[in-house]
Amino acid sequence: MHYKEVKTILSANNGINIYRGCSHGCIYCDSRSNCYNMEHDFEDIQVKKNAPELLESALRKKRKKCMIGTGAMCDPYMHIEIELDHTRKCLEIIDKYGFGLCIQTKSDRILRDLDLLKSINNKSKCVVQMTLTTYDEDLCKIIEPEVCTTKKRYQVLKILRDNEIPTVVWLGPILPLINDTEENLIGILNYCIDAKVFGIICFGMGLTLRDGNREYFYKNLDRHFPGLKQIYQKKYGYSYELKSDNNEKLLEIFHEKCEKYGITHKNDDIFKYLHTYKEASKLEQMTLF
Ligand code: SF4
Repeated sequence: MHYKEVKTILSANNGINIYRGCSHGCIYCDSRSNCYNMEHDFEDIQVKKNAPELLESALRKKRKKCMIGTGAMCDPYMHIEIELDHTRKCLEIIDKYGFGLCIQTKSDRILRDLDLLKSINNKSKCVVQMTLTTYDEDLCKIIEPEVCTTKKRYQVLKILRDNEIPTVVWLGPILPLINDTEENLIGILNYCIDAKVFGIICFGMGLTLRDGNREYFYKNLDRHFPGLKQIYQKKYGYSYELKSDNNEKLLEIFHEKCEKYGITHKNDDIFKYLHTYKEASKLEQMTLF
């Protein structure tokens, strides 16, 4: 871990990355790709030391409230967050200035900040996004080795549901010949139905590989699934998109089941929802306080 003073924190589309790099070890992680020009080892987490100060200054100047997003390039609840409270400090600022929050994680450590998530949600809107890829717990521990498993994430989704915090699930990546099965999909969908998630984002049943993350992924295939790398290489070469042969069948099940249980499953509709800021009405605020 190392610290860095950065010049800006809030991107043009109101996203923040409080850290750079990630310690969750997902074997398919796109953030490892060379195109992101990381100047340090992926596991040597860069802590953006002045992130909370920069965020406060940016939000203070903003004329219009909006949703602030975090978690796209690194998980805001990786291990070091527990001692650093860096994400928490940023949430406190978002809460203080009345902005909305869209936060994405795979970790149950997010529950530490349930008080803040609730407070933000009471004043405006807080949406928690969780990624689910692998229903089988043992397989999940191989694919996403340094973060809590899918079952635990499902429990987190239920706790958020019970606290009236809306949730969105990112379904994927789905790894060909590893977890691209009906059983895997139905297991995850049943969790989502039970946890009453607002929507599920899915870009198809497959994964993407680029220079940098491809090498890491193949190294892990060799380690955990001997012989599979050669099959991937023969089938997909250096393609960016690696679609499962079961893509169509699984997508049909996905859309049918979401439709049946009232889960939003059109990506555009979900992104619109995630980007729409909502302020609690005066009446709602009076009822709360
Ligand atoms: S949690 Fe996200 S950023 Fe972290 S290793 Fe996994 S995929 Fe990469």
